[in-house]
Amino acid sequence: MELSHIVYISVGSNLGDKLLNCQTGIHALSKPSRSVLKGKSSYYLTGPVDYPDQDWFVNAVVKIETSLEPPAVLKELKLIERQAGRTQQAVRFGPRTLDLDILFYDDAMMDTPELVVPHPRLHKRCFVLKPMCDIDPWMIHPVLKKNMRRLLCELEKMEPQQVRFLCD
Ligand code: AMP
Repeated sequence: MELSHIVYISVGSNLGDKLLNCQTGIHALSKPSRSVLKGKSSYYLTGPVDYPDQDWFVNAVVKIETSLEPPAVLKELKLIERQAGRTQQAVRFGPRTLDLDILFYDDAMMDTPELVVPHPRLHKRCFVLKPMCDIDPWMIHPVLKKNMRRLLCELEKMEPQQVRFLCD
């Protein structure tokens, strides 16, 4: 098996045992046969962004190397979300047991009804950029052509968001 694609995935939970939900999701992501875990950020406690009237989240980012193509990665993420007990939430951006999003897939740019990569809102979210900086601060966003550290600095100046270190 050839593992040739590098994928960054954001992991978040704000229902139940949030840290455990994230840890279980990360464990499931690194199934030895198809994907290998190459990096993991610290865990952060983060204030809700898009829908403020809900509990804080635990967030992290992982980097995996995989042989799966993008639709297969998405399918895998949805399966892991379901296994974690996620059901259809009533409110878009509302509370969820486990949320897994593809942030980057190599330098690919795609925009289909099922999948937009790079994730279209990642540069507006400190809870993504901060953990991305733990793993690869100098990685260049293939569309915005700026590295993660610069995107984080710009966002923190424009729109401060609550992101607190929780644990490694
Ligand atoms: P969410 O509520 O964040 O779990 O996202 C719901 C839907 O967003 C999924 O069913 C995907 O089809 C779609 N989607 C579009 N782009 C992405 C992406 N980069 N990563 C994950 N889901 C995505």
